[in-house]
Amino acid sequence: MNAYKTVLVTGGAGYISSHATLALLQAGFDLVVLDNLCNASAESLRRVAQLSGRAPVFVQGDIRDRALLDHLLAQHWVQAVLHFAGPKAVGESLAQPLSYYSNNVGGTVNLCQAMAAASVFTLLFSSSATVYGDSATVSITEDQPLGQITNPYGRSKFMVEQLLGDIVASDKRWRVALLRYFNPVGAHESGQIGEDPNGIPNNLLPFVAQVAVGQSPELAVFGHDYPTLDGTGVSDYIHVVDLAEGHLAALKAIYSCPGMEVWSLGTGNGYSVLQLVRAFEAASGRHVPYRLAERRPGDVATCYAHPGKAAAELNWISKRDLHSIMRDAWRWQSQNPDGYRG
Ligand code: NAD
Ligand code: UDP
Repeated sequence: MNAYKTVLVTGGAGYISSHATLALLQAGFDLVVLDNLCNASAESLRRVAQLSGRAPVFVQGDIRDRALLDHLLAQHWVQAVLHFAGPKAVGESLAQPLSYYSNNVGGTVNLCQAMAAASVFTLLFSSSATVYGDSATVSITEDQPLGQITNPYGRSKFMVEQLLGDIVASDKRWRVALLRYFNPVGAHESGQIGEDPNGIPNNLLPFVAQVAVGQSPELAVFGHDYPTLDGTGVSDYIHVVDLAEGHLAALKAIYSCPGMEVWSLGTGNGYSVLQLVRAFEAASGRHVPYRLAERRPGDVATCYAHPGKAAAELNWISKRDLHSIMRDAWRWQSQNPDGYRG
C-alpha cells in the first residue's frame, strides 16, 4: 500500500518526469502535474495516460506562481511533491544565469513556501551528479565533498540542496530526498514516450540518435586523450525507466525517514563515448559518423555512481543494461522522428 495518495509533480510533462509520472500512476498514486510546457508537450501526458489507463490532472502553469501553487495544494489534498521543474542546459545557463537562478532557486523557494503554508512537508528534488563537480575519485559516493561546480546550472542545483538542508534543520516536519541523477538515457520500452529535445541536443545520446537518422551530419566526440580505455570520456548512463523506478522507491522510503536524505541514482558502471556510439550502432543497424574533437570544458575523464547507498536504503538498483538502453532509445527515435510534434 502507498503511504501517500496524492502527489504533485512539478515539470511533470518533461523527459524524466513523464517516465516517473507513468511509474507512479501504475503504482496507484493520484497525480497532479504542473508544467509551464517551456520544454515539453502535453502530448507526453496524453501518452502516459494511454499507457497507464489513468490520467494525471494536468495544469499548465509556473512554479513561480504562488497563488496557483496555493490553489493546487489545497484543492487536490496533495501530500507529497516530486520537484522536476526547471531548465537544465549547462551552456544556456552560462548565457542566462538569472533565468536559471530564478527558475531553479527562486522557483524552489516559492514551492517550499507554498508547501509549508499548506502543511505539505514531503519533497523529492531532482538534483544532479553535477554537484559533485570535478571529483578526485571516479566511483562517487554520496558523502563525497561537493563543489568546484563550473556553471550556473550546477550551482543552482547545489544552492537548492543547501536551502533544502536549511529548512529541514529549521522544522522537523520536513522529509526531503535529494536525488542526484547520473546520465539519464533511453526511453520507455513502448516507444511512446522519450526525450524530445528542443533544437540541437546538448547531451550525447539524443545527438547520436539525430545523427543516426540524418538530422545532423556527424557527432563531435569531445576529447580523445583522456586516461580511459579508448581516450574518450567515461560516464554512468542510466535507463530512464530505472531512474523513474528509483523515484518510486525514494517516495516509499522517505515516508519513514524524517529529515533529509541523499541518494545517487546511477548504475555503478561507466561507458566511454565510443562504447556508447558502437552500442547504438549495434541496436539501430545505423552508422553514426563521428569526428574526434577538443575536450569540452567542465567534462571529467571518468565518473560513475557508487550505487550502494540506494541499494541498501531504497532496495533499488538499476536493472536495464546498455543494450536495453540503446534498443529503447532507437525504438523511440525511429517511431517518433519528430518527437511529440510528429
Ligand atoms: P525536461 O526539460 O524534460 O523537464 C523539465 C520540465 O520542467 C519540462 O517539462 C519544462 O517544461 C518544465 N519547467 C521548466 N521550468 C518550469 C517552471 N518554471 N514551471 C513549471 N514547469 C517548468 O528535463 P529532464 O531532463 O526531464 O530533467 C528533469 C529534472 O531533472 C530537471 O530538474 C533537471 O535539472 C534534472 N536533471 C536532469 C538530468 C538530465 O541529464 N536530463 C540530469 C540530472 C538532473
Ligand atoms: N559528448 C560528446 N559529444 C556530444 C555530447 C557529449 O562527446 O555531442 C560527451 C561528453 O564530452 C561527455 C559524455 O559525452 O564525455 C556525456 O555528455 P552529456 O552531455 O551527455 O552528459 P553530461 O555532461 O551532462 O554528464
